[in-house]
Amino acid sequence: MQPGPMPDPTPQALLREVFGFAGFRPGQEEIVAAVAAGRDTLAIMPTGGGKSLCYQLPALCRPGVTLVISPLIALMRDQVRALREAGVAAGALTSGNTDEETDEVFALLGSGRLKLLYIAPERLASSGTQGLLRRANCSLIAVDEAHCVSQWGHDFRPDYLRIGELRTALDVPLAAFTATADAETRAEIVTRLFAGQTPETFLRGFDRPNIRLAFAAKDRPRAQIESFAAARRGRSGIVYCATRARTESLAAALTAAGHTAIAYHGGMAAEERRLAETRFQREDGLIVVATIAFGMGIDKPDIRWVAHADLPKSIEGYYQEIGRAGRDGAPADTLTLYGPDDIRLRRAQIDESLAPPERKAADHTRLNALLGLAEATACRRRILLGYFGEESAPCGNCDLCERPARVFDATQAVRKALSAALRTGESFGAGHLIDILTGTATDKVKARGHDRLPTFGVGRDLGRAGWQAVFRQMMGRDLIRPDPERHGALRMTEIARPVLRGEETVILREDTVEAARAAARPEPKALVDEADEGLLAALKAKRRELAEAARVPAYVIFPDRTLIEIAQVRPQTLDEMAGITGIGAAKLARYGGIFLAVVTGHAPAPMHPARRALAGRDAGEIFDRLMEAQQRLARGEDGTGKPLSCTHTTLRRIAEARPTTHADLARIGGLGEHKLDRFADAFLAILRDDA
Ligand code: ADP
Ligand code: ZN
Repeated sequence: MQPGPMPDPTPQALLREVFGFAGFRPGQEEIVAAVAAGRDTLAIMPTGGGKSLCYQLPALCRPGVTLVISPLIALMRDQVRALREAGVAAGALTSGNTDEETDEVFALLGSGRLKLLYIAPERLASSGTQGLLRRANCSLIAVDEAHCVSQWGHDFRPDYLRIGELRTALDVPLAAFTATADAETRAEIVTRLFAGQTPETFLRGFDRPNIRLAFAAKDRPRAQIESFAAARRGRSGIVYCATRARTESLAAALTAAGHTAIAYHGGMAAEERRLAETRFQREDGLIVVATIAFGMGIDKPDIRWVAHADLPKSIEGYYQEIGRAGRDGAPADTLTLYGPDDIRLRRAQIDESLAPPERKAADHTRLNALLGLAEATACRRRILLGYFGEESAPCGNCDLCERPARVFDATQAVRKALSAALRTGESFGAGHLIDILTGTATDKVKARGHDRLPTFGVGRDLGRAGWQAVFRQMMGRDLIRPDPERHGALRMTEIARPVLRGEETVILREDTVEAARAAARPEPKALVDEADEGLLAALKAKRRELAEAARVPAYVIFPDRTLIEIAQVRPQTLDEMAGITGIGAAKLARYGGIFLAVVTGHAPAPMHPARRALAGRDAGEIFDRLMEAQQRLARGEDGTGKPLSCTHTTLRRIAEARPTTHADLARIGGLGEHKLDRFADAFLAILRDDA
């Protein structure tokens, strides 16, 4: 009798068996259900939230092929490699393909076996694409980085505008994914991709709890970045700078300090930039010192740290940039430096832009939000998430949760500073105003008669450094602003008026220069306990060897997170190995034994594929007990019968189906009359016992 087909696996089972994940991340399950059911969906998830899974898994549940449109060829190729490693029939049609690769994709398409087809948006312009997709039974369109359809965003890709047309032509559901949450972009996605019909929308929480947040006032920025990098030697990181020149000088400084660091900016030749991207993607522990031109092309899940050598442009930019760290969910570290010069630079950039006045005002507000975060006196994550409309409790994973800021009532100091600015016609910068406050009779002070002002010398108690911190924080709170018309001059803003009138108090941080030193100092969180570090290094070395042989990025074999878990759990059997996050059936078969050998120090006993398919599941244990019973009964109860045995495959089917009656057991197939006589009672005892 031919055994009947096995039931279709559930998304939960596929999550485990193909991707090796024990559970969904928050939000994934609902999105997967909607997409698998063929409903139009728009999912907004933070970078690293696990978007890819939300279309890859449904693709496996749906008939035919799922088309994935993604803006970056390098990323597509890596995703396809990773899927293939997991045993999924995936392919890409891009200009980067070799002829053999393209032939193979067409062959898989022709035979109807391909489940995911990645294409670059440019290909939508070619006339053959629609026909090809129709013939291939395309049943779902997934659009990655869907905000690329927005003409107002910075990532606009004209070819994305053809996607809506394609959807209408093929008449299939569409699932769009993006990390960009603002309402304008969202509305544009709906108009352009869904022809205005509202898709089911999922807006996922924005927290990235594994990313540590820290800010520090700029003191000696080069040294600060160097010591931050030094404490993280050997781990991949990005340093963002405000200018091209700075990326080069800082990369050189880091190289001189013994790091492997390269610069990256928009002024470099395309070829050079591509090389830098590829190196970063492939190499373990490379530092890229970059302008924000280094960004969207980067899909490396194991970036362990991001530092800003200069203040970012806005709170949105800040979150996007640090969000590139730790996408694999393992701990990641960030540090953002800022100082009065940064604030001046960013304000000037806004003032000098050609944007209309309302836009400029909005940009100043967004910069203020970031400065508020920089000068925060309590949990930074609460402020950050609050800005995105999410309430949260103190996070325990930011510099201020770990080391609360010392604050003081600075109302009097702020009033003195404001008065000094007003009495000098709002024409001077912080340096001169501090001279006046501290009673320093410089030539400039004397020449203008500022030594005769009532404010002269009223702030001797605070000292220069103290006043610098006060002025920086006043700028951070937008109590004073650089005057765009008069270089360097500070003007009081409307927000400051109630303070000046004594109607509002101002609490400031005591000193941030000392805190600055402390921010770079704490060691990064260890990825594993000290006792496991040697093992983690050995696992990484094995991974590197395999990745180099296969010429893929290391994380395509296993992400850091998986190696960390192996080092901590120290699985001793393939069953235990199957329980590790990120190890699905295909990877268990290919790499399970290899990495197990690294842990145990010897090659594991070979395991039959039918048994391995059950690794880490209850069915695996049942299989072992059935096997034991059948060996015991090989020659019958009395040991004199004719030798009989069932195949591994039969035992696997029994272990999975768990029949509890004689009739059900017989229906499984593979057991003739004689075998049933011999084994049925013993098998059923095991199965019932387990039920
Ligand atoms: P993004 O949303 O930025 O596109 P990805 O899809 O690249 O994020 O996922 C980020 C990382 O999280 C990947 O390494 C992926 O394998 C991992 N991941 C996704 N879903 C899960 C899950 N349910 N359990 C564990 N890891 C997951
Ligand atoms: Zn916190």
